[in-house]
Amino acid sequence: MLVLEIEDIKELIHKVGYKDFFATLMDTLEEDYSNWESFDKTPRVANHVEGGVIELMPISNNEMYSFKYVNGHPQNPDQGKFTVMATGQLSLTETGEPLMFTEMTLLTAFRTAANSAMAAKHLAKKDSKILTLIGTGSQSEFQYLAFSYVFDLEEIRYYDTDPKAMDKFEQNMKQFNIKLTRCKDSREAALTADIITTCTADKKYQTVLTKDMITKDVYINGIGGDCPGKTELEKELVESATIVCEFLEQCKIEGEIQQLPEDFTCTELFKIVRGEVNINVSTHGTVVFDSVGFALEDYSVLRLIYKLAKENNVGKDMSLIPEIDDVKNLFSLL
Ligand code: NAD
Repeated sequence: MLVLEIEDIKELIHKVGYKDFFATLMDTLEEDYSNWESFDKTPRVANHVEGGVIELMPISNNEMYSFKYVNGHPQNPDQGKFTVMATGQLSLTETGEPLMFTEMTLLTAFRTAANSAMAAKHLAKKDSKILTLIGTGSQSEFQYLAFSYVFDLEEIRYYDTDPKAMDKFEQNMKQFNIKLTRCKDSREAALTADIITTCTADKKYQTVLTKDMITKDVYINGIGGDCPGKTELEKELVESATIVCEFLEQCKIEGEIQQLPEDFTCTELFKIVRGEVNINVSTHGTVVFDSVGFALEDYSVLRLIYKLAKENNVGKDMSLIPEIDDVKNLFSLL
């Protein structure tokens, strides 16, 4: 069974390059979203614990099965630990044989950013130039990178309650050629934005964006509201926008729409990707992509990484599944 560590993922990404990796990942996501009905889908299994959540995210089609283990503990950085940590597995559906086990903390950031930018390609104005980031933690630079390959960005406006997170963001962003505007609050950050990503972490009903902060039609990519009792957008803002989500059955439990009464309307992303429904800020006004993170996105990044690892001979073959001639003689291993 192939096992990939952080160093292996770094090696693969650097070999392929950020731009090509994001482009291929976005294509893979679009292909998998287009084949929506071929997947056996279920909302993720969440164990709510003191201060966080631990989740399992399974999905399969006729070819492969995948699952991700992921947590969300917003107070973890106080103990020097990541808010979000993940590992994942890919298996063959036909036999159930595990193919690959891998780190997924980095891969989650890549797949989330690729999914955000892929959705924005369809939903945001084509000439979007100003990206606002509310929350400049682990996901933030990945978000910028993915959007920068889809839009001709000229400025990033950003705000985080933790000034050190903004310092870190500025340091990392020095290598990219983009105007950086540090803001004193989310209201100032939202001003003039074409696209706003909210990627804050706090396990409560937050309102990092309210309706009165939105002064022009904007594309809101809400990724931090992803758990029951953990939202980022004011209810009135969500209600007043055109809403798109990944998998309605899961998003109703975890997304911004958990705040709404039952009769809201919301379009699932696969219909947008397949061109069955056309929604764009230029025709519909403010659009909220209520992203909570869906197992299909992990499936996409896992199958892409498996292919790249095989092609580039990266990773270690580890003895995690027995290999013996008489497969009824498991006892012979001992
Ligand atoms: P992180 O802890 O590294 O960063 C979160 C940042 O938000 C911190 O710097 C914190 O100071 C800031 N913050 C908290 N409250 C704020 C507020 N009111 N205003 C401004 N800033 C605020 O976490 P991360 O890994 O970057 O993840 C960010 C969020 O995205 C988390 O909630 C996580 O669960 C979510 N997430 C969603 C997806 C998805 O697919 N939708 C994927 C990954 C992570």
